[in-house]
Amino acid sequence: MKPAVIVIDMLEEFVHGRLKSPQAESIIPAIKKIVDTAREKRIPVVYVADNHTPYDPELKVWGQHAMAGSSEAEIISELEPRETDIVLYKRSYSGFRDTGLDIILRNMSVDKVVLTGIHTHICVLHTAWDAFYLGYSIYVVKDAVAAFSEKDHEYALEYMEKVYGAKVITLDEALKLLEGRFE
Ligand code: ZN
Repeated sequence: MKPAVIVIDMLEEFVHGRLKSPQAESIIPAIKKIVDTAREKRIPVVYVADNHTPYDPELKVWGQHAMAGSSEAEIISELEPRETDIVLYKRSYSGFRDTGLDIILRNMSVDKVVLTGIHTHICVLHTAWDAFYLGYSIYVVKDAVAAFSEKDHEYALEYMEKVYGAKVITLDEALKLLEGRFE
């Protein structure tokens, strides 16, 4: 069983911008610990980042956000990717849709995804949905994901657990998992 860490939408737009999660800043240290541990253990770290073009369907719901080429679409400097990380750009909620993520993970024999980032009830949830149907074991780190509100966050965690069979784990459990001490 090989894990990969997926960092979802930790962008200027969602951490400091118009569509920010009020909790986004508070999860940065947990994500940093997770990606640092993964790099140490040579576990793949994959960033999936919103990068919109003007006619993407979700702009009808949210307005323009994280537009390709804008500063809002940049990954926050605190979590700047390293050379060994993989960065993929997406135009929908799911990190799997039209990004090549599935084949990249399969080429690395990854069968477990450890989900971090924002928002718990939108892009994290839709990434979990695709991961479920593609046959991955899903771990959602509750201390490393955030939403617009505590209600959205809690509801989405429960939904992913009940409907996709995701394991909702703590930061400590995530670190143990990356060190091969948690199943
Ligand atoms: Zn978007």
